[in-house]
Amino acid sequence: MSITEDCRRIDEKLSCFTAISDVSEEGDVVFSVKDCICTKGMLSSAGSKILQNYFPVFDATVVERLRQIGPIIGKTCQDEFGFGTFCKNTYKIPKNPWDTERSCGGSSGGAACLTAVLDHPHIAVAESTGGSISCPAAFCGVVGLTPTYGLVSRYGLIDYANSLDKIGVMGRSIKECAFGLTVIAGHDPRDSTSLKVKRKDFTESLMGAPLKIGIPKQYFKNIDPRVGEKVWNAIRKLESIGFVCQEASLDYTKYALASYYLIAMAEASTNLAKFCGLRYGTSSNPEEKGFNEYFSNVRTNGFGEEAKRRIIMGTYARMAGYRDELYLKAMKIRTLVINDFKRELKKVDVLMAPTMPMLPPKLSDIASITPLQEYQSDVLTVPVNLAGMPHVSVPCGFVDGLPVGLHIMSDHMQESKIIQMAYVYEKARGKIEYPKV
Ligand code: GLN
Repeated sequence: MSITEDCRRIDEKLSCFTAISDVSEEGDVVFSVKDCICTKGMLSSAGSKILQNYFPVFDATVVERLRQIGPIIGKTCQDEFGFGTFCKNTYKIPKNPWDTERSCGGSSGGAACLTAVLDHPHIAVAESTGGSISCPAAFCGVVGLTPTYGLVSRYGLIDYANSLDKIGVMGRSIKECAFGLTVIAGHDPRDSTSLKVKRKDFTESLMGAPLKIGIPKQYFKNIDPRVGEKVWNAIRKLESIGFVCQEASLDYTKYALASYYLIAMAEASTNLAKFCGLRYGTSSNPEEKGFNEYFSNVRTNGFGEEAKRRIIMGTYARMAGYRDELYLKAMKIRTLVINDFKRELKKVDVLMAPTMPMLPPKLSDIASITPLQEYQSDVLTVPVNLAGMPHVSVPCGFVDGLPVGLHIMSDHMQESKIIQMAYVYEKARGKIEYPKV
């Protein structure tokens, strides 16, 4: 069966693609790309109905770099513009390969789902604003690496929140992720926030000197005890092979979620202004309609409920009169969160915690949770994203056949430490049998 036929077969069962390409040459490694990353001539809808007619005339920088190495097999499903934790806020909802009644996690749910089931060397390129790589990687039992903010060019990414968005990678092993990062990382003059660092081979980071591990105590409160147990087992395993583990304390963690959602929504509400049916977005018939009516029709029909909620809340947070009380305060907290991580990461090399506080929930149960409950499930992934620091989720066991993720975090530009730590742990853990579809 060709890779394209294989992708179609997988999509029929698990609904993980928004578009599949016809690939003639398979090569040694193939790539999939999250739908919010622009691919020339290929649907790039960011999981939104409003962009269902958007076929970019250019490739994102990361896509240009991928094409030099191997083919792009398709675009993967996501929450609309990245707004969500369960990949349910969109027009096509992927199913978790370990239990098809459950969520793949979000927002990069399609990418993680495909990584778990495609039996061909494959790297999924995804994006995280507040945990969208780690969460689905944990729920689908794959490795998901989010680099330092600015290490990978955002040119050609359909923005969610510019000061938080990071393009990263997923694979079945840390080695694959390190290779994927090597392909896409490095300075790009077309992105003014891109860091001026030379390109580097991250697979060389797999080996290194022994690392010291910190365990942030706040990250083990209010979590599913079955998840906590698997993570503690992983930590004990590392201790038993000689790693030094000590307690760490990230005191501002409890404010990170509120700060993140204010900043993310404020930025998102400005980013979505351009989708009004003129230059971008589905168009409706402009005859006999004023501008206001025309563009509110386009936006009413094109945006989903969560996107509308974020436009309203984000606009509110930026309003004169509220800006100092909400947005500026959130920015100050962001600095405190960064300092918190910096201080603890002077004492240890990496921090370790559960990726998600829960197991992948049933899609039918998600229907009855409130938006606030959905936001709260990001409590462990948001702080490190707010700080723009690199992190990786590695599978660390199963509860009733459902995967659990171990989160490894480090300071800015310390990708080599999280790669090395993940590699050591993977070897100690042993192989994972992925589900067949
Ligand atoms: N769940 C978070 C949110 O909805 C993070 C999503 C993301 O990283 N794109 O904002």
